[in-house]
Amino acid sequence: MRDAEIDLTDTPNDLEFDCPRCHEPATGRLYGPCPTCAEQLRAAIIGERDDSAVAPEFEPKMNVTPNAVALKDD
Ligand SMILES: [Zn+2]
Repeated sequence: MRDAEIDLTDTPNDLEFDCPRCHEPATGRLYGPCPTCAEQLRAAIIGERDDSAVAPEFEPKMNVTPNAVALKDD
């Protein structure tokens, strides 16, 4: 029976490869951006905020029809 989860605790942390981003030799547990690139990518993704994407302030609709039954004058 196979474990569904991948346990990386026993994975060696000395895999040597060339960083796919800067092509500098890197060492790590998994193939991917080197720590320097990972930091730059993180800063690029998380560090930059797009303020134009802020949700507009809530403006109550002024054309909401009041409850017709409640206003019924009989
Ligand atoms: Zn790199």
